[in-house]
Amino acid sequence: MIDIKTAEKLILEHSQNSSKILEVNLEDALDFVLAEDVVSKIDMPPFRQSAMDGYALHIGDATNYNVIGEVKAGDNQNPVLKKGEAVRIFTGAPVPDNANAVVMQEKVELQGTGITTQMPLAELMNIRPQGEQIKIGTIALQKGTKVKGAHIGFLASLGVTKVSVYNKPSIAIVVTGNELKTPGDLLNYGEIYESNGAMLSAVLSELGYTKRSIVTVADDYKNTKNTLEEAIQNYDVVIVTGGVSVGDYDFVGKALKDINVKEVFYGVKQKPGKPLFFGKRDDVPVFGLPGNPAAALSCFYIYVYPLLKKSEGGVKTQLPNVFMPLLVSYTAKGNRAQFLKARIQEEGVEILGGQSSAMIRAFGDANALVFLPENSTEVNKGDKVKTILLPTK
Ligand code: AMP
Ligand code: MG
Repeated sequence: MIDIKTAEKLILEHSQNSSKILEVNLEDALDFVLAEDVVSKIDMPPFRQSAMDGYALHIGDATNYNVIGEVKAGDNQNPVLKKGEAVRIFTGAPVPDNANAVVMQEKVELQGTGITTQMPLAELMNIRPQGEQIKIGTIALQKGTKVKGAHIGFLASLGVTKVSVYNKPSIAIVVTGNELKTPGDLLNYGEIYESNGAMLSAVLSELGYTKRSIVTVADDYKNTKNTLEEAIQNYDVVIVTGGVSVGDYDFVGKALKDINVKEVFYGVKQKPGKPLFFGKRDDVPVFGLPGNPAAALSCFYIYVYPLLKKSEGGVKTQLPNVFMPLLVSYTAKGNRAQFLKARIQEEGVEILGGQSSAMIRAFGDANALVFLPENSTEVNKGDKVKTILLPTK
């Protein structure tokens, strides 16, 4: 069995950016990672722009100006101002070339067709210089940027219509267990409802992975093997839950071996998720997560998430973490390193009740996982603990 750090390192070493690059319309680029730098084809703003409603003038000419006309947003005239002349101007309008200030309308006195300015005035006041935000030919967004709504706004403002992004992986979820019934069907004695499939699929959807499938397979060697073979042939990433331990009816390990999935590691010194399997066949990574729902989800966030991020071209692949004071003391059971469902409050982080890996309920309240290194016994209120932030959506 390896430790968590080694497992994380091995996964990253075996992850790679998608080799497939797509050109998508800007409005479809949300949540994708840019595969190329985006270079601006224009100055932004493209011309000297008024930042206020007021008067454009040349400071120092006079204190009284004759207003000779107006320029509003969208107008394309560029009036030449003679000494002592000003134009009425509005926010977003082009500032005449020989004006060097825009005076807010609140800061002038109107006198007939003229204005008197109230001092002090500063050169270039209320003028957005051409190219203030970005200059033509410079990088607007770097390769590796995960596109957010604000980025789409920025690129649209530069006239960008298409961007190159990395393809996102398609993901097969294979859930195993004779005891699993589909929600909606009647439960017989000894059966439970299948929940890992729906859960992982939903979490993947939250993270923006649209190509997913869920297959349920009984604890049967041949079926397990065939289902896994098919999943590996048709998907970029395969996630299996259950059947990875050492029970007589855990066939996943043997089936993966027999279809030539090369083991990278099998077993991690951690709680939950000790039997975690990670392997690869050609370019397809295969995760064997524990069947217990909370263990499966913890392992997903710690190990599967970084691989998915890397394969979609991400630069920062792990979930972010911060050190936060513990709100309530906690006694750790066992000596393995642990990931504990937790909730960040204003003043610190609280480890939640219901930590059993069979219980998924507390995960719904969690917005973080507290990491306790191996051999942690008692952690006290106020101790700073490593707190891994779960994605929020
Ligand atoms: P296993 O890893 O197959 O030994 O399963 C461990 C525990 O998780 C058992 O109690 C299973 O019944 C349960 N389990 C396995 N798969 C699922 C699933 N897809 N949904 C809900 N519980 C599961
Ligand atoms: Mg099982």
